[in-house]
Amino acid sequence: MDVDERPLLELTHRFADELPELCMPWQGAEVPDPQVVAVDEALAKELGLDPDDLRTPHAAQVLVGMTPLPGSQPVAMGYAGHQFGGYSPRLGDGRALLLGELHDVDGQLLDLHLKGSGRTPFARGGDGKAAIGPMLREFVISTAMHALGIPTTRSLAVTTTGEAVHREDGPLPGAVLARVASSHLRVGTFQYAAAMQDPALLQRLVDVAIARHHPSAAEAEVPALALFEAVLDAQAALIARWMQVGFIHGVMNTDNTTISGETIDYGPCAFLDAFDPATVFSSIDHGGRYAFGNQPSIVQWNLARLAEALLPLIDDDQDTAVGLATDLLQQFPARFGTAWRSGMRAKLGLATEEDGDGELIDDLLRTMHEQGSDHTQLFRALSSVVRGDRAPVLDQLRDRTALDAWLDRYAGRIAIDARDVESVDAAAAAMDRANPVYVPRNHLVEEALAAATSGDLEPFRRLVDVIRQPYDVRPGLGRYALPAPVEFGEGYQTFCGT
Ligand code: AMP
Ligand code: MG
Repeated sequence: MDVDERPLLELTHRFADELPELCMPWQGAEVPDPQVVAVDEALAKELGLDPDDLRTPHAAQVLVGMTPLPGSQPVAMGYAGHQFGGYSPRLGDGRALLLGELHDVDGQLLDLHLKGSGRTPFARGGDGKAAIGPMLREFVISTAMHALGIPTTRSLAVTTTGEAVHREDGPLPGAVLARVASSHLRVGTFQYAAAMQDPALLQRLVDVAIARHHPSAAEAEVPALALFEAVLDAQAALIARWMQVGFIHGVMNTDNTTISGETIDYGPCAFLDAFDPATVFSSIDHGGRYAFGNQPSIVQWNLARLAEALLPLIDDDQDTAVGLATDLLQQFPARFGTAWRSGMRAKLGLATEEDGDGELIDDLLRTMHEQGSDHTQLFRALSSVVRGDRAPVLDQLRDRTALDAWLDRYAGRIAIDARDVESVDAAAAAMDRANPVYVPRNHLVEEALAAATSGDLEPFRRLVDVIRQPYDVRPGLGRYALPAPVEFGEGYQTFCGT
């Protein structure tokens, strides 16, 4: 066998076998000239691959879906979803394919999935394709999220197709993203299955979700309820993590809310510069439904849709089922609050828990909002305060006295946990591992994608290199740590990546 024809990977087709009602066998479209332009080498190694094997002509064909992998039975997955609150009974993978599953070197089962691989029976009016900009956008932001320690689907590779895709701005280079996820089960998958009114099918879906993501739920008295609770906790933890780095997902429809608790579907997402809970970047989010500060209540709303889908498996008596699910759902704000405060304590360098911590956090955020402080820079500057230098924080305020009283309170609070020089140093060092220096700021992402769209991938590669180590100050990278220059404008908008 020619070296280049060695199979890259063997896949399984468990989902296609276990839940055939929820997917359709399908193939990727033929494209004229596939070329791999981005590879996550670290992820490739985690999958047991040699990154160079992902850069061959054979790999390019595999990564656009033209050449099947051994064992692969690609499918387009079906799902429903509430989009901006309105229900669509049939969304599904309109331009995506689940190629199959594989194990990483640690034995974890993962999905390998393509996005932009051609029209499927779920495509509705869409062309089934993707432009290079939005696929590289998902690559860079998902890579950043992973480096920040936030659960996320990963981007293995982006492969250009050699074909133009037509969007509002005219023709753009086409590309396919190869995505790896602990699964592609979403709230919308459960909505889709529930609508089929087949309890045995719904039960199989619950069993698959429990086995893949929340195995302890299998032992519970009511596994479907335990699954619901596990998803609720995973999502509470996820949204808290998003907000601790200033991330706005932008399109938190129920089809974009995973059962695993991983971030999925990087469309109009963006990071805050100046802290303001009302921030919305997405051009299609006119009502601000998915604004930064609404994210916890929106995910709670999405979880209510999951609970509705699960009701028949929670109890035969509908009122009892509703009561059990509602009890858990009402605990969401408290569980979110616990996750939020615990992460915020880490950002503030607080090792223990004290009664006034919630207020201390809220008061800081309120002042940051009033002062237009840069979210990333201000939190990073807090470790300097702990080391005895307030200046970096004061530099983030319009009125340099605005935080004086708060800083005194904070100094008192820190003193409870860090009593000697060693513990002060340890607290400050821990804070520098909780507060990133580099996040993929909007202007940097736009600059990288614009260059890539015109054929220059260097700015994209540099940005990926920067965000892979978000916590370590590195020489020469000063501009990546700064907010957008004023010329970038305040009215920045993101578009639902197609
Ligand atoms: P998303 O906004 O990426 O979560 O996608 C929402 C739905 O629209 C999913 O069912 C996608 O498969 C579908 N979709 C988005 N873009 C396209 C496209 N270009 N062609 C076909 N389907 C698409
Ligand atoms: Mg989606």
